[in-house]
Amino acid sequence: MTDRHKADLPELLGEVNLHVRELAQEQLRWDPSDRWGFLCECGRPGCRGIAYLSLAEYEALRDTRRPLLAPGHRASPAQKARQDAAMLRDDAQALRAQARQQQKRARRTLGRQAPDDGSAGPEPEKR
Ligand SMILES: [Zn+2]
Repeated sequence: MTDRHKADLPELLGEVNLHVRELAQEQLRWDPSDRWGFLCECGRPGCRGIAYLSLAEYEALRDTRRPLLAPGHRASPAQKARQDAAMLRDDAQALRAQARQQQKRARRTLGRQAPDDGSAGPEPEKR
């Protein structure tokens, strides 16, 4: 197994869990409060851990972007790095959106203070 495969394992497990959720919710129509066995996403080779979560708990965990872990299992450093990166991406997106808002507001404010009527202001004095 290459390092690349090892790094992708938690992601694959996450995808399997998404399918488990889909199956439970859409095909079998389990109640959101009923608990399901999800695969542990720690990514340790040979891990067969199962975490029992309700669909609602699973959704909440997905929102935090934390890996789903069986009791006693820990996220790998690579997963933590990925999670940090994902959170930074979210932060950056939020900041960009904020900056766009402020730009819009600034443009509106400038437009009010100096209406663009084509005049370039007073001529510079000649000596
Ligand atoms: Zn595990």
